[in-house]
Amino acid sequence: MPDHSVFEEELQYLKGVGPRRGDVLADAAGLHTFRDLLHYYPRRYLDRSTTTRIRALEEGTTPVTVVGTVRTLGVVPGRRSKRLEVIVEDDSGGRMKAVWFNRIGWIKRVFSTGDQVAFHGKVQQYGRTFSMTHPDFDKLDENSPSLDTGRIIALYPGGSALEKVGLTSRTFRRLVYRLFKEHGLRIPDILPAWMQEQYDLMPGHIALRAAHFPKSQDELRAARQRLKFEELFFIQLLLALTKQTRQAIPTEAVFNTKGPLVQGFLDEVLPFTLTGAQQRAVGHVMDDTGSGLQMNRLIQGDVGSGKTVVAVLALLHAIDHGYQGAFMAPTEILAEQHLTSLTEYLEPLDLNVRLLVGGQRKLLREEILSEIASGEVDVVVGTHAVIQEKVDFANLGMAIVDEQHRFGVMQRAELFEKANAPHMLLMTATPIPRSLAMTLYGDLDVSIIDEMPPGRKPVQTVLRGEKQRDEVYDFLRTQLREGRQAYVVYPLVEESEKMDLKDATTGFETLQARFRPYTVDLLHGQLFSYEKEEAMDRFKRGETDILVSTTVIEVGVDVPNASLMIIEHAERFGLSQLHQLRGRVGRDEHQSYCILMADYKRTAEAKERLNAMVRTTDGFEISEVDLKLRGAGDFFGTRQSGLPDLKIADITRDQDILVQAREAAQDLLRRDPHLRDEAHADLRAYYDRYYSQRSLGYARVG
Ligand code: ADP
Ligand code: MG
Repeated sequence: MPDHSVFEEELQYLKGVGPRRGDVLADAAGLHTFRDLLHYYPRRYLDRSTTTRIRALEEGTTPVTVVGTVRTLGVVPGRRSKRLEVIVEDDSGGRMKAVWFNRIGWIKRVFSTGDQVAFHGKVQQYGRTFSMTHPDFDKLDENSPSLDTGRIIALYPGGSALEKVGLTSRTFRRLVYRLFKEHGLRIPDILPAWMQEQYDLMPGHIALRAAHFPKSQDELRAARQRLKFEELFFIQLLLALTKQTRQAIPTEAVFNTKGPLVQGFLDEVLPFTLTGAQQRAVGHVMDDTGSGLQMNRLIQGDVGSGKTVVAVLALLHAIDHGYQGAFMAPTEILAEQHLTSLTEYLEPLDLNVRLLVGGQRKLLREEILSEIASGEVDVVVGTHAVIQEKVDFANLGMAIVDEQHRFGVMQRAELFEKANAPHMLLMTATPIPRSLAMTLYGDLDVSIIDEMPPGRKPVQTVLRGEKQRDEVYDFLRTQLREGRQAYVVYPLVEESEKMDLKDATTGFETLQARFRPYTVDLLHGQLFSYEKEEAMDRFKRGETDILVSTTVIEVGVDVPNASLMIIEHAERFGLSQLHQLRGRVGRDEHQSYCILMADYKRTAEAKERLNAMVRTTDGFEISEVDLKLRGAGDFFGTRQSGLPDLKIADITRDQDILVQAREAAQDLLRRDPHLRDEAHADLRAYYDRYYSQRSLGYARVG
């Protein structure tokens, strides 16, 4: 009988394993339970129908697989170091050499003459000898049929640490085989029949078996498809349930009429009309906040698309209904910037906006806190940390979280799940590919601002080297003469903060000397916050012509008259960071420019980043390149997103399956919102066991 307990059984109780082996599996491979082993997917498959006969080998860059018998092995002294050579012969009668220059000791112990082995690697030819250097290898056992000599053989994640303790691919094949032999019939199918039918999925236990022991490429493909689907499905279910839970949070804060502040702002304060995309986003906010349920909305829009105004309208909408607002930014300098622009917008309406950041004098801080508690303050602007901590609001009705991509699903949960949670509006300037958005923001409602304010010209971007510095400075001078301002940005790598600061300082001094009488200012992270604020204000008021800065200005800074950005050591910046930086210029109808200064000794990857910047200003295109270069794990901290690791699916490559999995999760909740149907009992048990814990209970199925 299938039952869930099979997944949780400890590996040491698998026949033939025992406590000692069990410990080795846990320590070396992190495998504790049957489920861990079942999900320890092969990293590659050796298809013996596609091995190359040694006589047919050719030198080449595509790796090939050779299967044969070890004839000799020996350590050969070389000019600099020793090497291990293993000669293998196959039934074509050909001989090939496999060579290792390091790890000689233990690899030598792996093989004996007469062993059946498979080597996988690139073939080189020296004279008439073919050889592979440091090939992947696997020992095959011709005496134990079924396991090592089928048509397709699984190769498991390896490495010397595992092989040293005897955990070779061969061992894993035996362990998994035994698991299926003894317990295979107990493995339940967690996905309901209707879903398997609708998405044409292979049954779960068959897919698991086939992933480890595929009978054919077709079966393997179907098996992997099913397992990827299942993996992505549960993450989508987690997100959908989180969303469902949040969408059901009733709130007394019902903002259902367009009040005088919103109207007054649109009619009298706002110097321009909203773009269609901004209007739509505002419409979504109005609908959400009028519904009687808590709003959880994300506004996604490229840098410069005008998200701030949408946030201002959301705040005014709350104040119109007698509530306060909070505006949270990731850094102090951004909070200060937002304070400036919000004050500009809100003071004409007689509203009280206060800044709350770390390092404020105690007296001032207490004064502000008490004004917030009494309700005198309409909007508090501050860093996430400060506002989240312990600010007592009279009645907070709207919280804006700017640059939310620095926030994972878990951190969001903390924000949302507070008692009396206000309506939440998250904003991100980081356009991300659809597949990733579905995973990172799958728990939110999303409005996309896909339209730039009218009259914007794309920033012209060029790549320059040290030899062209004079030309670059000449160009800077022409911009200044036309009355424009410029940023010169230096990278800031945390480990070498001092050195970078020295770089920026030297740059600042050079520019000061060269560009007299223009004014040059220096802004960096080690200044006091009032000094940073003053420096930004001077630049904003046009008193500074050139602002030299480390990356503290990365996001949010808004000085429309600045038309040139020079990025020094551009090869040291990440792609999304470069894109954010460039977003600081091109903020009005003047043509703006971005000059990437980069060394010639840049890596191939850096070249791709810089070329992408020169080629396009489209944030979505940039983010696709970024995702490709960095891989999904690294991209905007999916790793810290609080979502379970993926073992078989790949968000980048398996987008089609992701879309289906998401649809299936939503479909399931439509049919059975609380997963109470008997037909979903297995699914629910599995979800509860492996997913709801992770979500700290905030996505309980209820
Ligand atoms: P971001 O989305 O990067 O936060 P901002 O809200 O800072 O963008 O807006 C960028 C600039 O565009 C600001 O100077 C803002 O005043 C201006 N802006 C925003 N919306 C419009 C609009 N509809 N028409 C003209 N200018 C606009
Ligand atoms: Mg902004």
